[in-house]
Amino acid sequence: MEKTIDIEEQIIELTNFYRKLKYRKIQRGIYTIYGELEFKIVSPEVVRGKYNVEIQVTKRFPVEVPIVKEVGGIIPDGFHKNDSKTLCLGVETEIKLFLKNMPNLLKFVNSFVIPYFYSFKIWQKTGRFPFGERPHFVKGIIEFYKEYLLLNDLSKIINVLKYIYNKGDLSGYCRCPCGSGKSINECFHQEKLKELSKINIKDDLYYIYCYYNKINGKRKKPIIYPLTSENFKKLYGIKNK
Ligand SMILES: [Zn+2]
Ligand SMILES: [Zn+2]
Repeated sequence: MEKTIDIEEQIIELTNFYRKLKYRKIQRGIYTIYGELEFKIVSPEVVRGKYNVEIQVTKRFPVEVPIVKEVGGIIPDGFHKNDSKTLCLGVETEIKLFLKNMPNLLKFVNSFVIPYFYSFKIWQKTGRFPFGERPHFVKGIIEFYKEYLLLNDLSKIINVLKYIYNKGDLSGYCRCPCGSGKSINECFHQEKLKELSKINIKDDLYYIYCYYNKINGKRKKPIIYPLTSENFKKLYGIKNK
């Protein structure tokens, strides 16, 4: 069972911390938090920022990741933004994993939104990203999994994701899907497999698989999206449980 989260309580915590943020509740359980997000980073040097934002949070937080916009016209569209002009705060799976362990709105803002604006400031000044920069779309997703699973080989990453998608046994004595030959108990992936099994990795598996097929010249199957589980089975022969 999902822990129930009092989203209003969390919004109040956020707006108490960032005093220039306000919020309103609009229809269908969506809350909009708006106003000025002001911050000061002191290390390694003092960086101050002030951005007008609009944050949309739904009642399904943290399963649904909040949407953040900068509405003051300071962040150019060419900087990290999604198609819908919302801020590209990182690879969604990475954010979901964070929220799974830390289902807190203020911590989300402090861990993703503030670093985004901080990165923008540093990038403006130096042309560099202080925490590095992930590519967009599937390449960013792949980069994340390479780091997270410490696997370089795409087919191994796909095997791990398939195993999780198929709800493979995570308790221990089965072989780890990474291909190390070790049992899950003995492989360093055990904790990571457990973490990933708490979130929905179906889309990631789909994108990475399509990308893998493309770079390997396999184009036998059309790309069907949105995916129904039937399509998914047809495409990849993965059992649905
Ligand atoms: Zn981006
Ligand atoms: Zn492993």
